[in-house]
Amino acid sequence: MAQIIDGKKISQQIKDELKEKVESLKAEGKSGALAVIQVGEDPASSVYVRNKKNACAYIGIESLAYELPEDISEEELLELIAKLNGTKQVKGILVQLPLPKHICEDKVIQAISPSKDVDGFHPQSVGAMTIGEPGFLSCTPAGIIQLLKRSGIEISGKRCVVIGRSNIVGKPMALLMLREDATVTIAHSKTQNLKEICKEADILIVAIGKPRFIGAEYVKEGAVVIDVGIHRDENHKLCGDVKFEEVEPVAFAITPVPGGVGPMTIAMLMNNCVQSIEED
Ligand code: NAD
Repeated sequence: MAQIIDGKKISQQIKDELKEKVESLKAEGKSGALAVIQVGEDPASSVYVRNKKNACAYIGIESLAYELPEDISEEELLELIAKLNGTKQVKGILVQLPLPKHICEDKVIQAISPSKDVDGFHPQSVGAMTIGEPGFLSCTPAGIIQLLKRSGIEISGKRCVVIGRSNIVGKPMALLMLREDATVTIAHSKTQNLKEICKEADILIVAIGKPRFIGAEYVKEGAVVIDVGIHRDENHKLCGDVKFEEVEPVAFAITPVPGGVGPMTIAMLMNNCVQSIEED
């Protein structure tokens, strides 16, 4: 039986620690708000935005909701971001992605002041992470590092394979594992011999975006398997990129979907907000 890495429990611990920290910051006269911007009414985005607002309420920081119409112009959105960049009480700005096609996501991300970039997507944040300078870390990869550390899993010196090279998961994940002294390989859609490469991993991190793609034949006996994927299967049930039932008996430890990586992303977003209030 593999150890099931409980993201729900670990994210709750982090949120409780943050709640205490927010209280002590308030006692020092430090507070701030997270501005959450949603464009349009995509149902999945609405769920994520609601969860973020609830997490803010739980740890005791204010959230300001900006629900903008689907047809808002890029210019108007950029104006709002400029206004929030200049608002002292706003310590974090988050624009829920994806944005409608007529708005350039890169332009929007780059318009957010790096000092308020709590998603960690701004090129300055990514650059700082790459060279080990202080800055906001991308939430999902930072959450995975916390899952590993708080589950007592050693990272230093381990062979790690990350499947996926997206800017929000795969690339920052590989960089953070490198920062923790793992020996890291990034696999992607053009990688040859994926199975053989994955089988070398002590820690296999799967962010491939394909439901139940990774079976036991990709996993070394005793490996740690982190499943970043989130999908709805044909029965509308949540599932990951990994065939959990097949991989669990082979693994030393594994994250479930739901209840693994998912809850950690919001916990780390809250961590970045608190960091921003603290540093102000
Ligand atoms: P993406 O589609 O941007 O990237 C997928 C990556 O997988 C690509 O880099 C691609 O090169 C690689 N890939 C595709 N097919 C492959 C193949 N056959 N072999 C090897 N590599 C292949 O996705 P993403 O944004 O990085 O997200 C990945 C998954 O994680 C998705 O299911 C997404 O929903 C989920 N996700 C979860 C969270 C969370 O909080 N749990 C956060 C972000 C993303």
